[in-house]
Amino acid sequence: GCLDDLVRTHIALHPDFPNPGVLFRDITPLLADAAALRAVIRHWTTLLPEGIEYVVGTEARGFVLGAPLAYELGAGFVPARKAGKLPGTPAGLSYDLEYGSARIEIPEHALPAGGRTLLVDDLLATGGTAAATLELTRRFDVELLGASFLIELAGLGGREKLPGVPLTAVWTLD
Ligand code: 5GP
Repeated sequence: GCLDDLVRTHIALHPDFPNPGVLFRDITPLLADAAALRAVIRHWTTLLPEGIEYVVGTEARGFVLGAPLAYELGAGFVPARKAGKLPGTPAGLSYDLEYGSARIEIPEHALPAGGRTLLVDDLLATGGTAAATLELTRRFDVELLGASFLIELAGLGGREKLPGVPLTAVWTLD
């Protein structure tokens, strides 16, 4: 997209974080730059489908980006949280990671059946996180309009874990 350079120049690269061999892309310089943050959020909304009622953002950077997107769209925001943070009896899903497993939860009754919903996160890598969020979100019988990411690392094939889901990214890297 036309904001590729803006995103690229506001991301810090950290080799071997959090594990050896991983090149971590830190988006905090983008978040801290007022003009860049506003430009990216505003441009991002133009890539999204019409009629979004709910943005589901994944902890933690999916909160930071999903909430301003929801606000700009006139939609509500729903968090997909790490396990143990939500009161009541949230809907939960455990999923496998490369090493071990993780669990995400969404507040009970947070999404009505048929609610037009978009999934948001900062980065799509292997797609494991997004696939789990998708599966959990589907339990609410929502109308899923798509999934959208600030950054898509296309070489890791995450897209294939979300078959049939309209997928957009502000910046796609090979
Ligand atoms: P996946 O499940 O697609 O392999 O990894 C994506 C998840 O891990 C997202 O929730 C994302 O926030 C996080 N993640 C993985 N790699 C990176 C990275 O290089 N930079 C950032 N900011 N997040 C990452």
